[in-house]
Amino acid sequence: MNYHFDEIFKILKKEVKNYNVPVVTLYSQNKHVFHVLISCLLSLRTRDEITAKVTRELFKNVNKPEDILRIGLPRLRKKIKSINFYKTKAKNIYNVCKILKEKYNSQVPKTEEELLGLPGVGRKTMNIVMAYGHYKDGFIPIDVHCHRIPNRLGWFKTKTPEETEIKLKEILPKKYWWDFNNIFVAFGQSVCNPVSPKCSICPIFKYCERIGVKRNR
Ligand code: SF4
Repeated sequence: MNYHFDEIFKILKKEVKNYNVPVVTLYSQNKHVFHVLISCLLSLRTRDEITAKVTRELFKNVNKPEDILRIGLPRLRKKIKSINFYKTKAKNIYNVCKILKEKYNSQVPKTEEELLGLPGVGRKTMNIVMAYGHYKDGFIPIDVHCHRIPNRLGWFKTKTPEETEIKLKEILPKKYWWDFNNIFVAFGQSVCNPVSPKCSICPIFKYCERIGVKRNR
């Protein structure tokens, strides 16, 4: 099968410059791995605009685990109140910071296993921290957009983001792994939307099989 990876990545790389940048990418550009981890924990199932607003405010005085511990759990809850599931997230972030201080000398760990052992850290967060926080090769963070779009394109048929991660690692050339999340999240938020994708203006229309697309614009 010809996946047209070169053509698709060339087109989308150019296109996404006009789209909104996902919030985690913004923090990865700051090269601050602790901010990447915290913004990612806050962003799960929350709109990017809300996460961006909360993290902008929070990170004015927060650069290390001790800063979160100093704020304390009740005040942290208040500070992130506009974020979905803020109570659970505040608890996870507080506990993550405690562990980082006690076990990792206040640094963000650099292995997959250690990261996955932190409260609230799943594969997506682990992959984002490894790729955009520590700048390690070999990681592809998969969120809902990264899972949905390749399935629509007809690259494969998978049921979960975990399956998509495995399939992508089998077929996608390594040179595209690092960019994949940035490009596909921005593309999914702007054009290939979850319910009604904008196929009529899609720059990669001719490469897409539109699998499972019932309604489009
Ligand atoms: S043609 Fe439609 S479904 Fe396919 S990638 Fe473009 S917007 Fe998404």
